Amino acid sequence: MTWHANAEVDLQKVRITNSNQSIELEEIHNALSNFSRSEDKVNIIYEERRREMLESVERRFILCDSDIVERDNLNRALFFENDVGKSKIDVVADKLNSLGGNIDVIKIYSMLEGKSDVVRILDKYVNIDLVINCADYPSVDKTSEIIGEACMEYNIPHVISGGYNLHLSLIGPTIIPNKTACYKCIDMELTSKMPDDFKFVKKLYRKNRNIGNVAPLAGISASFSINEAVRILSDNNKLTPQMTNKRGEFNFLTSQVSYTHYEKNKNCSWCSNKYMPEHTKA
Ligand SMILES: [Zn+2]
Repeated sequence: MTWHANAEVDLQKVRITNSNQSIELEEIHNALSNFSRSEDKVNIIYEERRREMLESVERRFILCDSDIVERDNLNRALFFENDVGKSKIDVVADKLNSLGGNIDVIKIYSMLEGKSDVVRILDKYVNIDLVINCADYPSVDKTSEIIGEACMEYNIPHVISGGYNLHLSLIGPTIIPNKTACYKCIDMELTSKMPDDFKFVKKLYRKNRNIGNVAPLAGISASFSINEAVRILSDNNKLTPQMTNKRGEFNFLTSQVSYTHYEKNKNCSWCSNKYMPEHTKA
């Protein structure tokens, strides 16, 4: 019997045992690992099998960031004094793993500098259910644009999250491709409504720009995003996302959330049929 056939037999055993829910996660990993090494087309087949096998027993998080925790992050995220100097995604991964249960965390130590960086991840890790954008470098606008365009191509729901400065926190939007306004639809509307005087105003680039924020805003903003994530991932008609076609702004001073509504733009090149996703081109 070849190694490949042995690996296939192991995988089959795991499949049978898994249906009785008495298998250890480590055994599944080992069987899948052996199977992947016995295959020529390792990546795609391995990922598909792995997903198929592990779907019922674990949840996967893909974390992407090359940053390290600094002292001025402590009021903006769930980091603590002893996390300073460590990789942000290492700290988050440790927290997720400490919850127990069957959680699989993949860490990608890099920045998303262009759409191709996002596409590379979406191509490698198939069947991604949801993308949450918390990246703010070089700006939330830029990261939302590159993540938004890639997710539209791959038809993946995405939540724009994490904008807060001083006493204000931006919330949403949530984008369900081809059903709700996308990032470009919203950007077109914002640009069209911009007063003429603003069209010639440019943002100043300041390398060390770091505006403070009221600490609870980070938690409030995160709670809105998680609320949306639960609604999207539950895939239940009675539990739909609440931040589609709109953005909110929470004002810490008044405890009020004000909403701005947007519509899907029929001239939007990302939403319209004219748009040919790059990964479907011959
Ligand atoms: Zn659009």
